Amino acid sequence: MAVSRILLLEDDQSLVDGLSYALCKNGYEVDVAHDVAQAFERLGAQRYDLLLLDVGLPDGTGFDVCGRVRRQGSRVPVIFLTAADEELNVVRGLDGGGDDYVTKPFRLGELCSRIRALLRRAGASAGEEKIVCGDLSLDALGGRAWLRGEALDLTAAEYRLLALLVRNANHIVTREAILDALWDSAGAFVDGNTLSVYVRRLREKVEKDPSHPEHLLTARGFGYQWKEVSP
Ligand code: CA
Repeated sequence: MAVSRILLLEDDQSLVDGLSYALCKNGYEVDVAHDVAQAFERLGAQRYDLLLLDVGLPDGTGFDVCGRVRRQGSRVPVIFLTAADEELNVVRGLDGGGDDYVTKPFRLGELCSRIRALLRRAGASAGEEKIVCGDLSLDALGGRAWLRGEALDLTAAEYRLLALLVRNANHIVTREAILDALWDSAGAFVDGNTLSVYVRRLREKVEKDPSHPEHLLTARGFGYQWKEVSP
């Protein structure tokens, strides 16, 4: 089995030293980020199996990182490392897509067993990365999509846009959330005009009549919505 790679985001150097030593000893690969900006850099360059996110950081919070990762459609397990006085905030963090948290000071054994539990759960669901939504299905691992059984010929960016909308099917996804998520790992910035172009091209591929879309709807002034259509 491949070694699990963990991103540790923590600004307290003594905790970083102790944790990365212990996690490596437990057989994990560990990358460290000391602030939110560094975490985004690491996340753009490397795929992780689990994120350990401190909450209070010099340039933001672990919640910011988790929120953005989730908006990009990732389901990577997230554990927050919280200080005791942040515990009330944890509700916010778990609402924002975190899976678990430990309160400092925590026992290493406790953290490790939570890490193992989440990795196990993620491993168990990795085989079912197939998403079916009405007449559309997505294979998240292979980055492919089928409409009414026909494979769609999509660019990587079109696929990402489609997957984001379908994961939030029947809900409006705001333009800001889409732009944030499509700001791709290669660092290519997607602006509002480019987004409109992506949407138009995607409609040409998924709609019978692109000028009267039934799947990819515009919520004028807000964003877009994928409407589930029965097969
Ligand atoms: Ca901190």
